[in-house]
Amino acid sequence: MAETKSTCPYCGVGCGVVIEHDGAQITGVRGDPGHPANFGRLCTKGSNLHLTATPVVIRHQRLHQPMKRATRGARPAALGWEQANREIAERLLAIRAAHGPDSIGIYISGQLLTEDYHAFNKLARAVIGTPHIDSNSRLCMSSAVVGYKQTLGADAPPCSYEDIELADCVLISGANPAWAHPILFRRLEAARANKPGHKLIVIDPRRTETAELADLHLQLRPGTDVALCHGLLHAVIWQGWTADDFIAAHTAGFDTLKALVRDWTPARTAQVCGLNEADIWQAAEWFATSPASLSLYCQGLNQSSAGTAKNTALINLHLATGQIAKPGAGPFSLTGQPNAMGGRESGGMATLLPGHRDPGKAEDWADMATLWNVPDLPGQPGHTAVEMFEAAARGEIRALWIACTNPAQSMPDQAVVRRALERCELVILQEAFAHTATARYADYLLPAATWGEKEGTVTNSERRISRVRPAVPPPGEARADWRIAHDIAALIDAGLGRAPRLNATSAEDLWLEHRAATRGRDLDISGLSWATLDADGPQQWPYVTAGTPRLYTDGRFATADGRARFVAKAYLPPAEAPGPRLPFELTTGRMRDQWHGMSRSGSVPGLFAHEGRPAVRLHPADAARRKLAEGELVTVRSRRGELVLPLRLDANVPPAGADIAMHWGEEFIGAQDGVNAVTHGAFCPDSRQPELKFSAVAIEPAALP
Ligand code: SF4
Repeated sequence: MAETKSTCPYCGVGCGVVIEHDGAQITGVRGDPGHPANFGRLCTKGSNLHLTATPVVIRHQRLHQPMKRATRGARPAALGWEQANREIAERLLAIRAAHGPDSIGIYISGQLLTEDYHAFNKLARAVIGTPHIDSNSRLCMSSAVVGYKQTLGADAPPCSYEDIELADCVLISGANPAWAHPILFRRLEAARANKPGHKLIVIDPRRTETAELADLHLQLRPGTDVALCHGLLHAVIWQGWTADDFIAAHTAGFDTLKALVRDWTPARTAQVCGLNEADIWQAAEWFATSPASLSLYCQGLNQSSAGTAKNTALINLHLATGQIAKPGAGPFSLTGQPNAMGGRESGGMATLLPGHRDPGKAEDWADMATLWNVPDLPGQPGHTAVEMFEAAARGEIRALWIACTNPAQSMPDQAVVRRALERCELVILQEAFAHTATARYADYLLPAATWGEKEGTVTNSERRISRVRPAVPPPGEARADWRIAHDIAALIDAGLGRAPRLNATSAEDLWLEHRAATRGRDLDISGLSWATLDADGPQQWPYVTAGTPRLYTDGRFATADGRARFVAKAYLPPAEAPGPRLPFELTTGRMRDQWHGMSRSGSVPGLFAHEGRPAVRLHPADAARRKLAEGELVTVRSRRGELVLPLRLDANVPPAGADIAMHWGEEFIGAQDGVNAVTHGAFCPDSRQPELKFSAVAIEPAALP
């Protein structure tokens, strides 16, 4: 038996794993004791990883060969790679010639490795010439990206996981790490046990397992996070808890913000947020006066039409109290996916360029053209996720290349997404798993290698780059994602009479190109190599001569003048207001033991022990008022669509709230879409992240035939 060190492919904690195998089959997995994210521990999902790679799963659930549908709706038939690549290149060239490069969209994933991201980014921007490349990370962390940029000057979480142990007060907002980031939650539990007087504040409309650990749970009305942060800041200013020297020396814009929050008295805030006024004063005191206060936040802030405002309002609190740039303090955005951070670093998104460059700046495009040795690049930001599918539904995007993600389940407002996929002339799906909802729409299915079979790097929430290593070969003819993009790019270049623009021979070649794009930037990794990662283990960027656990400790932020910016954004309610016909505020989220659309985690029967079936959860008082009973089938209806689910009574859901897990799609609940049949495509104007956490719905007894 052999062992190979790699990284868990699920969440952004980025735990190190040791894969046990015989060179052909993965037989076991355990935590890597030397990995600084998890020190040998794994959660339920991670410790069952080997069961997602059994011979039965590989035989029945993986794509093994390139496949093609002669017509939509037909059974796909196998074809060789050479023919598939040639046909795809020819069809993309024909669409490009007839309708221009902008008629092609590429939609990728935070599950891809940094090297895959780099290959797809170059394929889109340098080879095809389309600006329309975006990632499903748009759905999970783009508000955090813009929040950091607007306040601290760069998309860089300033903290480390060790700050969880060093903090005296932890404020968790819009996150349930007990389920979504379990190893970090274990670290938090241990830290609290070792630190008398530790304070934990949890801000969440639901009483989650995380909230149960809290000293103070602020169970606010969904969508009122900005109002709460303004109220907390008002209390801080009123009590004189501001860090005046820090504000004067290291920030700009405080007076404007002070004027904005003047009216947000704790009394008014309590009314808007549905909280006790005393709890707001208490939270403000603990946060401002503790020696070190850390905030952890995730989708509850990000997935909102006010996502950026929610992020900046929380960061304002850190800046006003000086709770930043010191051990145990700072605003720490948790990433959902294993390599959302790597996608941000390599700029594989419509609103980013490699090395944290800005597609709105001509000099940044010129930099990239020089680095990639091409005469020109598209020169403007592209369509973000929701916009890309809307453009396809309108017939403007005519070809979609989708890699390692399942938009026919995960994107909001499925009616638009399905229309887009049906209307496209060409849909290419590059996937490891054969049975996703999106696969039904694909003209070409390209088999991709996945965890345990791939080589490259990922970056976790604390900016730590870890190696991903192959233990066994991929099944059948499956290939590395970067290789698939690379080979078709070469054929497109040849078809355009050009020398190849993507000419790597290995994943490491692509990583070296990525590294070159970071030189001199805030995320500079010019001093790092794969040899260093192999010898010294995972490292945090920036890495010029050594890794960097904490940013801005010299008091200089990443803005032109070195001062952080207070951002004064008014509180706005969610995009869709509930009313008499649609009275419930629906939120979506994760279950503890499942991952995304369950294409991987759904293959392990034991992972259904925690939650075996989909349901809509309602507060028992709401159900009683409507004479609805536990287990009864109900119709959940919004302005976009409806779905039928069993009802679950759950006192942890707030009154007038409703909750449906994101994981179950049509493969699991029959001939209907999952929760995104009813969600909507409204998004934050700054980050373009859709509002998956708030839709107005009706819940009624299902009319059964
Ligand atoms: Fe994997 Fe996240 Fe669990 Fe760690 S906490 S084992 S990265 S799913």
